[in-house]
Amino acid sequence: MNRENSGIVREISNCRICGSSDLGLYLDLGMMPLANNLAATSSDAKAMRRYPMQVQYCCDCSLSQLTVVIDPCELFSNYAYRSSISQAYVDHCRMMAHSLRESLGLKPGDLVVDIAGNDGALLAVFKDELDVRVVNVDPAQNLAAIAEAAGVPTISKFWGPETAEQVVAEHGKPMLITATNVFAHVDDVRSFVAAAKDCLSEDGTLMLEFPYGVDFIEHREFDTIYFEHLSYVLLEPVRRLAESLGMDVFDVQKQDIHGGTIRVFIGNEGTHAVKSSVGEFIAKEQREGYHDAAVYEDWNREIDSLIADFVAKITALKQGGAKIAAFAASAKGNTLLNACRFDTETVDYIVDDTPEKIGRFSPGTGIPVVDRSVLSADPPDYLIILAWNFAKEIVASTDEFSAAGGKYIIPIPAFKVIVSNAKA
Ligand SMILES: [Zn+2]
Repeated sequence: MNRENSGIVREISNCRICGSSDLGLYLDLGMMPLANNLAATSSDAKAMRRYPMQVQYCCDCSLSQLTVVIDPCELFSNYAYRSSISQAYVDHCRMMAHSLRESLGLKPGDLVVDIAGNDGALLAVFKDELDVRVVNVDPAQNLAAIAEAAGVPTISKFWGPETAEQVVAEHGKPMLITATNVFAHVDDVRSFVAAAKDCLSEDGTLMLEFPYGVDFIEHREFDTIYFEHLSYVLLEPVRRLAESLGMDVFDVQKQDIHGGTIRVFIGNEGTHAVKSSVGEFIAKEQREGYHDAAVYEDWNREIDSLIADFVAKITALKQGGAKIAAFAASAKGNTLLNACRFDTETVDYIVDDTPEKIGRFSPGTGIPVVDRSVLSADPPDYLIILAWNFAKEIVASTDEFSAAGGKYIIPIPAFKVIVSNAKA
């Protein structure tokens, strides 16, 4: 591969949290295109540039991380995801804001900063329902404009020491900084957390919410691996990072959204009582082997056989004359389809509800993305639910398909056929 203009910013030979060079490769999905880049034609989609999709484990602090970092400008150039589009996400934000106010004792007039706050969905709840001051920090200018229009002041920049200084100069020191689904996307996590420490009030809190590394392994969520997700995170490496910066992890809470996430609370050393949840999470990770390379090597064998089994079963259905389609042209769907090397020989089309995706083609595999009308006009025998975390909603919203005899296939954590008893 030509490295000169390959889009790879750097290769990871030292752990991004502890700096150790003792890294062990445990999963190799081969060369993959960027999972969010849908193409204008099927041949463009198949010809997309590919990068090595490999995950390695830090034998010192237990952080799992990709072997390469792709240029963020290339990765996020087509970033179209908007938080407020999903009602489930807006509900999640409301519960989160109220729960944080309660547990941290936020008072009217306190400042809350949301890093990569997207279109301001979370901060709008803080501002409108909880009477606190808010600042959103998000580099995507189109999203910043939407947030501003909703009355959420937004600094349109990446988070770092300079942005932290700007927040303090313009708004004062926050009592709470939130970062949901951001930490795993960040390359220089040390500078990211250090900037939050400099910005926060002495007794303030940094709250990170990210997909939990234990669920990633336990539920075989290998399809959540894509180039935006640089790290697959346990509590242990975050605790070490916090301690090395003079901070404590003082609480951890488990959330069920997105296949299992954790909410981690960090404050300056000694400013918050450390709850028993922290020790319990660390002890459980250790007891179940997540601080040891062997678990990851076993997992690699499981994933290889999951993919082989999935390909064999889908191929057998296809050879038996079945017509197969898929639901949701999401990043995780594209990882699965590419790992299976499926194209239109196997999967006729992908149904999706996002207007910007319809009429385009899935990266690497070149499968057309269509709207829901195709599901009734040209129904498949089987619909692979690529967005398995929304399986219930997808089955419930396609009852016409199932009433006509259509069946669903769930790929993760193992191949499973579902016959819905929903009646039209
Ligand atoms: Zn490490």
